[in-house]
Amino acid sequence: MIWHGVYRLFPRKVGFRNDYCMTCRAPRRAEQVRTFDVLHLNLVPVLPLGFRRRWVCQECGLRPRQVRLTLRLIAQMVLVASLIEAATFWGSIFFVGLAIAEDVDAFWFLGVICSVVAVALGGYLIFWPPAGPSYEELRQSVPAANDTKCPFCGTPLIDEFFDCHCPDCGAKRL
Ligand SMILES: [Zn+2]
Ligand SMILES: [Zn+2]
Repeated sequence: MIWHGVYRLFPRKVGFRNDYCMTCRAPRRAEQVRTFDVLHLNLVPVLPLGFRRRWVCQECGLRPRQVRLTLRLIAQMVLVASLIEAATFWGSIFFVGLAIAEDVDAFWFLGVICSVVAVALGGYLIFWPPAGPSYEELRQSVPAANDTKCPFCGTPLIDEFFDCHCPDCGAKRL
């Protein structure tokens, strides 16, 4: 069996900002970490992917913007699937009805079921209020970082022309 993954080598903190962590459900400090990623197959490095940056919550270590599989998201996916299915069954009945004469009853039945599911989920999604503010809205409400010292090495930051960085380790305030 072949399995693959990514080695994240030489991690380096290259930035920081105030963020809203969807996992902690609270405003958090986030660190931007740069790594040199290498794709491996069965632990054998095969393809260098280059430098990648990702945001990490200082508290829980996860991406602040973590996509959660919520009930709403599941409902949206099932809605799309049932619309496609309903269209398939009704389409089969009205356009190729004669060709599948023996199965018409089953197609009617499935067409009705899928339509009912689609209408029910559509109603649920329209009338049910969203679970809460989105990541973007929450992040807007978090005040920007205003540190004057580098949180990684303690060196006073240099702030010039919208670019605030640490002269020592190069970390950026973002
Ligand atoms: Zn967190
Ligand atoms: Zn620094």
